Amino acid sequence: MAHLDAYNRPISYLRISVTDRCNLRCVYCMPAEGVVSCTHEEILRYEEIETIVQAAAALGVSKIRLTGGEPLVRLGLADLVRILARIPGIDDLAMTSNGILLARYADELAQAGLQRVNVSLDTLRPDRFRRITRRGELADVLAGMAVARRAGLDPIKINTVVIRRMNDDEVVDFARQTVEAAWNVRFIEVMPVGNGVNNLNNLEEDWRERVVTAGEIRARIEAALGPLEPAKMRTGGGPARYYRLPGAPGTLGFITPISEHFCYQCNRLRLTADGYLRPCLLSDYEIDLRTPLRQGADVEEIKALLLEGIEHKPMHHHLDECATPEGRAMSQIGG
Ligand code: SAM
Ligand code: SF4
Repeated sequence: MAHLDAYNRPISYLRISVTDRCNLRCVYCMPAEGVVSCTHEEILRYEEIETIVQAAAALGVSKIRLTGGEPLVRLGLADLVRILARIPGIDDLAMTSNGILLARYADELAQAGLQRVNVSLDTLRPDRFRRITRRGELADVLAGMAVARRAGLDPIKINTVVIRRMNDDEVVDFARQTVEAAWNVRFIEVMPVGNGVNNLNNLEEDWRERVVTAGEIRARIEAALGPLEPAKMRTGGGPARYYRLPGAPGTLGFITPISEHFCYQCNRLRLTADGYLRPCLLSDYEIDLRTPLRQGADVEEIKALLLEGIEHKPMHHHLDECATPEGRAMSQIGG
């Protein structure tokens, strides 16, 4: 049974950033020059992550997601997957990736016990892809998705951050992919994390002006393609609301941290690559797990620290009071 926090939310989900490095520089996530990376020594070792996941599983966490930076740039990621897949109580093991290296690693990861992958993709246009990511090739992501599908990493969910004047003119094209290619697309409202939105080359502009709400996206899709109907997703249990176009094999999801926050049902904790427990994405409160681990803390001691984090999970974020987190870039937390 998952442990309840102070607001009676069952905490069943841990997102683990395995590296703060990335092979892309998405404009809303990182500055062009990147961010200062942790040293090799600062990054948690796989056996340290194992101890934390054992402690989390003992508290009722059953779902793990590996993220980054870009998780696939960490060497030997399949070894970590193999370790985590064996931990009793972990029954959902997934990853969020930008897809660039997926074609190379999908088979190995699936064999190691990875069940699913979410691929972040904000545009279907190769030239725009290069502009948004500042260095990537769209073809690599599409190839990665194809290999992942053949490897049985299913369902693949596509995460699309929609930003006004960056890619909001493509929401209907993404919706068409749910009909023509059975994609499961989730539109995400951009959040002001680590000054990410101010990386969009317009420092004077209020970030709210660049948010395209789920309501607006839905209206544009319905105007072009007709009404959406509610749909169910067989995996997840996260904050997305799902719909489909009539008869479409794929689904459309909406994740609305800005227009309709879902904190009341938040079931997650986050672990940064350098070993800090972060109970809320949008609050800079963190607990250091790495120092105690390196001083010999065992599963029981880590459990006590996780409980402290669970007890300090805030009721909701404070973006509407302009309290945006400042401590870390999104690439350092993992989204
Ligand atoms: N590199 C991997 C990837 O891109 O999937 C994993 C880490 S990335 C930080 C995780 C997710 O966070 C991606 O889907 C990305 O688009 C999203 N993200 C990054 N910055 C964001 C922001 N400011 N607001 C909303 N989502 C953001
Ligand atoms: Fe890298 Fe993911 Fe951030 Fe893009 S969104 S820069 S791929 S961490």
